[in-house]
Amino acid sequence: MSELSKEYNFKQVEEKWERSWDSSIYYFDWESKKPQYIIDTPPPYPTGNFHIGNALNWCYIDFAARYKRMRGYNVMFPQGWDCHGLPTEVKVEQLNHITKNQVPREEFRRLCEKLTEEAIDRFHKSMGRLGLSIDWSNEYATMKPEYYVKTQTSFVRMYQKGQIYREDHPVNWCPRCGTAIALAEVEYDSRTSTLNYMHFCAEDGEIEIATSRPELLAACVAVAVHPEDQRYQKYIGRTVKVPIFNYSVPVLADPAVDSSFGSGFVMICTFGDKQDVRWWMEHHLPLRQAIDRGGRMMPIAGPYSGLTVEETKEKITQDLTEQGIIFKQEPLEQNVGLCWRCKTPIEILSEQQWFVRIDAPEIKKMAEEIEWIPAHMRVRLENWADSMEWDWCISRQRIFATPIPAWYCKNCHEALVAEESWLPLDPNLTQPKKKCKCGSSEFIPEQDVLDTWMDSSISALAVAGWPDRTDLRMPTQLRPQGHDIIRTWAFYTILRTRALEGIRPWDAILINGMALGEDGHKMSKSLNNFIRPEEVFESNGADALRQWAAIGGSPGNDIPFQWKEITAASRFQQKLWSIFRFSLPLIAPYDADSGQVDRWLSAELDQLITKTTEAMDRFQFDEALKAIRAFAWDVLADNYIELVKARLYGQDGLEKRAAQDTLFTALETLARLMAPFTPFLSEEIYHTLTGQSVHVQSWPVARGQPMDRAGLAIKEVASTLRRYKAEKGVALNSPLPGIVVYSDLDLETADLAGVANSPVESRTGKPSLEMKPIAVKPQMKVIGPRFRDKSQRIIMALMGMDPADIARQKEAGSIEVDLDGEILELPPEAAEVEIQTLSAGEAVDILKTKEATVLVRR
Ligand SMILES: [Zn+2]
Ligand SMILES: [Zn+2]
Repeated sequence: MSELSKEYNFKQVEEKWERSWDSSIYYFDWESKKPQYIIDTPPPYPTGNFHIGNALNWCYIDFAARYKRMRGYNVMFPQGWDCHGLPTEVKVEQLNHITKNQVPREEFRRLCEKLTEEAIDRFHKSMGRLGLSIDWSNEYATMKPEYYVKTQTSFVRMYQKGQIYREDHPVNWCPRCGTAIALAEVEYDSRTSTLNYMHFCAEDGEIEIATSRPELLAACVAVAVHPEDQRYQKYIGRTVKVPIFNYSVPVLADPAVDSSFGSGFVMICTFGDKQDVRWWMEHHLPLRQAIDRGGRMMPIAGPYSGLTVEETKEKITQDLTEQGIIFKQEPLEQNVGLCWRCKTPIEILSEQQWFVRIDAPEIKKMAEEIEWIPAHMRVRLENWADSMEWDWCISRQRIFATPIPAWYCKNCHEALVAEESWLPLDPNLTQPKKKCKCGSSEFIPEQDVLDTWMDSSISALAVAGWPDRTDLRMPTQLRPQGHDIIRTWAFYTILRTRALEGIRPWDAILINGMALGEDGHKMSKSLNNFIRPEEVFESNGADALRQWAAIGGSPGNDIPFQWKEITAASRFQQKLWSIFRFSLPLIAPYDADSGQVDRWLSAELDQLITKTTEAMDRFQFDEALKAIRAFAWDVLADNYIELVKARLYGQDGLEKRAAQDTLFTALETLARLMAPFTPFLSEEIYHTLTGQSVHVQSWPVARGQPMDRAGLAIKEVASTLRRYKAEKGVALNSPLPGIVVYSDLDLETADLAGVANSPVESRTGKPSLEMKPIAVKPQMKVIGPRFRDKSQRIIMALMGMDPADIARQKEAGSIEVDLDGEILELPPEAAEVEIQTLSAGEAVDILKTKEATVLVRR
């Protein structure tokens, strides 16, 4: 075997294996009889770069995939790309200095696809470098017809079952992006605005109304008070006049009005917020839409028509103030809904949109069939389900998305949804293959597209072979994902899998935390705490980054990136490499009878296997890796190898072979246990040892070796002897005159003799010892203060006495000294007596361990 380098060259090793690995060993086998383990991997938005947060999450997936594969499962670790959606469109608009409407639809889509393909290439590179065992035979991209035909099929089937419908309904709308968005895409942020108090003319006199949105005055359809507000009883059921626009609206009574807010009167507009929508529905109010899709005022807003919302707010406030209608203003803290992508305040518009029915109780019931890790994360889904008031709006007024396969009849305006056999299609490019019910064959294509969550919420179905395979592999086994997308991806996936196949999407969902910056804050370029995986690949390698992911904390917790963990990981790799480098020329697999120390190590190894397996089964990767590290540093390097060095370097024979075989097995087993965490280093070690890839091996199984108490006792004697030498200031390899070990376990001596570099005798039973007082040590600090000028003479007298006599007197309670005839009585602590332990007449030091007494000749 060629000489191994002293320093572990992570770069050379990792790059070598990345180049030479055959990734087909990770392919899912559709014909296999092994139990399946399908992972519903997150398809990331391929924009930007693969970041540390991705690295953390993909490491978790890879740990699980590699572990399950070694445990004998037919694993699928697919990789999808969630291509569609606003982030890419916004980026294309920014990069090309255009808006989506300034170029033809097809051209805009092409620009988006190109940007996405470039990003996918970058992700491929980072994922390969990180050593992920992805099944590239199951890669999908939602923008490709092979995938979006599935999205369209799911749309058609749910439409046919009545689970998708089209309706004029208020939706959340981003005026900047020019599209409807789902409730799950609205972010809330608190802002300070102004509360304006205005006069409205009533039939007799005036009432006061407070509003933060005077620009919606043209959309006012009613005012309301609390039914028990005694101040305003006489107005209920009558009308008031909307200032500036001069039309009458009714005064309603509604218990949802907060009498303590403003004047107690509230203006109902279509629509200022979600409460307006509730009132509008309950009281069957008319619709006065004042804001258009681009965020500008409509003709109904009279003099303000064509202005933006912000411009209108400023101008109408000024007009109302000048006319004395606004008579008071005060600051108001408000929660404002913002577009998740561009942070523009959203508006609520009533629009014809496509909706998916939400059956919240059924979704909650199905969530209970799924194992949530950690368990408390299920509550987040339940809370979200409970807060749903509207169905899921799935149509978007954008371009880069799956087309909605529908047309509208020019004659009767009826919607015609495509048949499954026509798919995939873009209604803008093809016409329906049949006539409308009314007989007309002229259609207007649906220009709206589908919410991108419509693509990704069938990911579990898609990787399990839906809809083409007759042996659909549902449910899948694992969904790994972040807690930030429980209310979207997890919620929608359960909803859609249930709607389409009536089954849960996964057996278990593993929620991972976020990767934070070293300072504990969210990583961001502006906070200067941003780390790219490539930086770590360069400085310490992929295995070190993977160890950080494993050791940083258990899944579910947010985990700060820490260079000190990366350094610790590298040190561990170097340690393991040093162990390996030392062992390699000395070890070999043999079938040899093992000694006590070998059996102790085998038992320790068994315990490690059991502990690691149990932790991996619970996805507690940090526990598993910590146990592996502790074994390698403490048990293997510091104890076992030190103990068996003499045998390893000694003459060939059964004892040597037993050590060679035990160490070989330990290293081979460690390489397998570490394969999920450090695939490169593990491969280097395992391949050097066996000529095979560690990644097609099975997970180690404990061999049932019971703990060898004698071997454990020898290990303890050895560390006690090491400590003894250190305390005596003796070099660890310098010999001692002789060692006798007493233990009822009948300890073997070869390894102890080696580690102590001294002759060792092993005996059973207890040593017979004699305690001999050999010297007196007068204690000046006791004598001095009490006897002052006599102290020196007392000390001289004590020194002259027989140590055995002083020992007897101390025992009796006091010491008598004779100062030239004057007898003084000293307290027993006035002198210490040094005792020497003798064994068979020889002076010895005694060391005790739990199972042994060790005598060391002096
Ligand atoms: Zn937006
Ligand atoms: Zn028609």
